[in-house]
Amino acid sequence: MSASAQSTMQLRSDFAHSLPELGIPWQAQDIPHPRLLVLNESLTADLGLDASELRSEHGLRLLTGGDVPEGATPVAQAYAGHQFGGYSPRLGDGRALLLGELAGADGALHDVHLKGSGRTPFARGGDGQAGVAQMLREYVISEAMHALGIPTTRSLAVVGTGLPVYREAELPGAVLVRVASSHLRVGTFQYAQAMGDTDLLGRLADHAISRHYPEVAEHENPYLGLLQGVISAQASLVAQWMLVGFVHGVMNTDNTTISGETIDYGPCAFMDAFSTSAVYSSIDRGGRYAYGNQPLAAEWNLTRFAETLLPLLHEDEKEAAAMATDALGGFRSQYSAAWSAGARAKMGLGAEVDVDTAAPLMNELLTLLEEHEVDHTSFFRRLSRAVSGDSELKPNLVSDPAAFENWIRRWRQLGPDADLMNRVNPAYIPRNHLVEEALSAAVAGSMEPMHQLLDAVTRPYEERPGLERCAEPAPEDFGAYRTFCGT
Ligand code: AMP
Ligand code: MG
Repeated sequence: MSASAQSTMQLRSDFAHSLPELGIPWQAQDIPHPRLLVLNESLTADLGLDASELRSEHGLRLLTGGDVPEGATPVAQAYAGHQFGGYSPRLGDGRALLLGELAGADGALHDVHLKGSGRTPFARGGDGQAGVAQMLREYVISEAMHALGIPTTRSLAVVGTGLPVYREAELPGAVLVRVASSHLRVGTFQYAQAMGDTDLLGRLADHAISRHYPEVAEHENPYLGLLQGVISAQASLVAQWMLVGFVHGVMNTDNTTISGETIDYGPCAFMDAFSTSAVYSSIDRGGRYAYGNQPLAAEWNLTRFAETLLPLLHEDEKEAAAMATDALGGFRSQYSAAWSAGARAKMGLGAEVDVDTAAPLMNELLTLLEEHEVDHTSFFRRLSRAVSGDSELKPNLVSDPAAFENWIRRWRQLGPDADLMNRVNPAYIPRNHLVEEALSAAVAGSMEPMHQLLDAVTRPYEERPGLERCAEPAPEDFGAYRTFCGT
C-alpha cells in the first residue's frame, strides 16, 4: 500500500493544519478488493475530478483512503454533542475520516470525507464499518435533497469493501465518499469550548467564518455575525425540510452543521401521509425529533451553539448572554418567514398574496391532509391540476373530496399558478418503499433499481413517462416504516 500517490485530486489540509487539537491524523483501513458501486459523474465533473481516474484501480484506492493524495493529511475529527438531549463530551469520527479539502473552481473549499473507513481512536465500542445499504441510502437521499434545492452534504461515490459487517446479521461493507462545504458541527464548537481554551475556540470560529460567513469578518463583532449566520442558515434549512415532508430523525448537536447543510442521513425518511407526529427512527421512542418538532429541535441546538460562543461574544458574561439571547430571538421569525414564503409557492401563489393570508391557508390545508391521511407529495403535485377547475381532484387526490371543496374554492379565488406549483412541488422523492426496494436489489447484486430511482429523484420536478410508479404513494401493505441509526 502506498501512503501517497500522484493524483488529479489535489487536497489541502487547512482544517488539519489550523486546528490540530480537533483532529487526529489517521489512516483508512486496508481494503484489498474495492468495488465501485456508484460514482456521481456530475459531481465528479463539478469538482474538476476525472471520472476515468476515479474508476481505475488507483482511483478506487483514493476513494477508500488507501492511496492518499500527495501532501494531504487525513484526520479523524473530534466533536462532542448532545444526543437526544444528553451530553457526550467525546464523540468524533469513529468510522470516518476527513481526507482533506478540495478547492473548487470558485475558490470555495469542499471537504472530501470517508464514512465506513475503519475504526479510529473515537470508535469507542464501534467497529468502524458501514453497510452497503446504509451508505447507498445516504447517497440516494442526499442527492435527492440536492436536486430539491435543499442545502446538503453530497455523495461522490459508494465503494463496496468486500469486507463483512456484523450487525444483527452479516452485511456487505461499503465506504461512502461524502463531499461537504465543511464538517464543522455545533458539536465541534462544544468540544472546543469544553477544552476551556479560548484561543482554540477563537481559531475554530475564525475558520468557520472564513469558510462559511466571510462577509461577517469585517463586522464590529464577527462572532456575533457567525452566530446570526448559523441561526439564519438553520432556520431556512429546517423550513425547507418541513415544506418537502422530510424527517431528519437524529437532530443531535453533532448532526447540526455550521454551514446549514443537512448532514448524516441515518434514520431519516420522507413522509407519505402527512402527519405532524411522524417519527421513523427506531431509537426515537419519545418522538423528540418527530416531523412537527423539528423547528424546536433546531432552536434548541442553536441555543447550545450560542452557549459555546459566549466567551467570544463579550468579555462581560451578562453582555455576552444578552447578545446571544437577542440573536436566538431571531430564529422563530426567520423560520416563519422562510416557511410561509415556501408554503405560498407550494400553493402556486405569488408575492401579491400576503404571507399572512398564505400561511393560515396552508395550515388549514395541512390540517385537512392530516385528518384524511393524504399523501403529502402527490397531493401538492396533483393540486396544480385543480387550478383550472376541471379538477382531477375528486377521483385521484383524496378519499373525501367534499372535505376539501371549501378550501379549494377559496384557494382558486387567489389565482394560483400551476406552472409555479410544478416548479416547487416535486413529482419524485425517495419514497421509503422505493428506497428499500432499491437497497435490497443492490445488496443482492443488482444496481438497476437504484439507478432508476436516482434518475427519478435527481430530476424531481420533471415528470417523465415510465416513472409513474416513483410518483405513487407506498402500497397499503408496505405498513409502518422504521429506520435504524448508526448502522
Ligand atoms: P451518528 O449517529 O451516525 O451521527 O454517530 C454518532 C457517533 O457514533 C459518531 O461519533 C460516530 O462516529 C459513531 N459511530 C457510529 N457508528 C459507528 C461505528 N460503526 N463504528 C464506530 N463509530 C461509530
Ligand atoms: Mg453523526
